[in-house]
Amino acid sequence: MTRKPRTRLIHKREGGRIHPTVNPPVERGSTLLLDTSDELYGAGKTYGRMGLSVHRELEAALRDLEDAQAVQLTSSGLTACALAIASITRSGDHIVAQDSLYGPTRRFCERRLKAMGVETSFFPPRDFEALEAALTPKTRAVFLETPGSLTFECPDLLRIVEFAKARNVRVVVDNTWSAGVFLQPLTLGVDVSVQALTKYVGGHSDAFGGAVMSGDPSTARLIERTAQDWGLSASPDDAALLLRGLRTLHTRLDHHQEQASTLADWLAVRSEVELILHPARPDHPDHEIWARDFSGSSGLFSAVLKPTSETGLAAFFDGLELFGLGFSWGGFESLAIPARNLRRLPGDWSGASGGELVRFHVGLEDIEDLKDDLARAFERLVRAD
Ligand SMILES: *Cc1c(COP(=O)(O)O)cnc(C)c1O
Repeated sequence: MTRKPRTRLIHKREGGRIHPTVNPPVERGSTLLLDTSDELYGAGKTYGRMGLSVHRELEAALRDLEDAQAVQLTSSGLTACALAIASITRSGDHIVAQDSLYGPTRRFCERRLKAMGVETSFFPPRDFEALEAALTPKTRAVFLETPGSLTFECPDLLRIVEFAKARNVRVVVDNTWSAGVFLQPLTLGVDVSVQALTKYVGGHSDAFGGAVMSGDPSTARLIERTAQDWGLSASPDDAALLLRGLRTLHTRLDHHQEQASTLADWLAVRSEVELILHPARPDHPDHEIWARDFSGSSGLFSAVLKPTSETGLAAFFDGLELFGLGFSWGGFESLAIPARNLRRLPGDWSGASGGELVRFHVGLEDIEDLKDDLARAFERLVRAD
């Protein structure tokens, strides 16, 4: 009998049981001592930067999670996004990227990638015709993120993959939101799936990491070589924390999903809220695409508030006790941020009238306490408005 993914994620042991402990040892090492001089120049691992036991275990678990042929670990999610794009492009090439991409990835395209001679055109994620129109004979890759940062639009993966394949263009997807649990892009024909392991895989807001996962040997080779050329790696201590997080990923995400969906329902009927941006809700414009491709949803979504004064908004955020004001997400704790400097406003496509967009990460606290924290925030907002 083939075991289910959550069982495999818990029991995956690449090296067999070579140590009496459940978890692999965390080896801190730069120099590897080899037995013979021949081995120094052999094909095996000869230097700590190439990864140690804990990296091997983490890579194996991620390969299984995302059905990948190869996994390249990096020190952060952003490095993973940059590595994915830079590996499959060269000077003179062009890429097309979704305009609601995670901000720092977008900046990488606009600044560093451009300086390397690769141009980027951006397209609105729901506009397939705009993607089609942006393609040039020099286009080598399409970079997507689903659902996209902050506004949660879902590009039509299947249609884009089919279109790109016919033109020999690679498709890269930032799969951080689903954590690889609710979406396996490589099984849908995507060439490269990227995750910020910093988020749900780590799950405890205490480690950084990224993974670039590929489904075919030629793409995997390009990624591996580029990572080697740049000297990219992940620290063994971070890798150990990420592997530890991975073992409880399904269980945590079940709860994040349930909590976020309950909180979104609660927010949706409040008079201060104009709109919820959560693709698992039937009122989301991309709900059908989401339902076709994803098997569940995580704890991150946005709400658009009705227009308020700045003092009202400040009163909403500044007295929050359980929702922390902080970037990143995927940990056990709840977070809320006002989303500023957006390239795409939900009003562009959802009909929202321009109130503040608030992004929530719903953690693992008791849901009644979370509602209470927000109910008091709304009271402050109304009083100060
Ligand atoms: C956080 C994030 C990243 C970057 O991850 P870091 O580990 O913080 O560098 C990339 N993509 C998405 C969608 C993210 O949310």
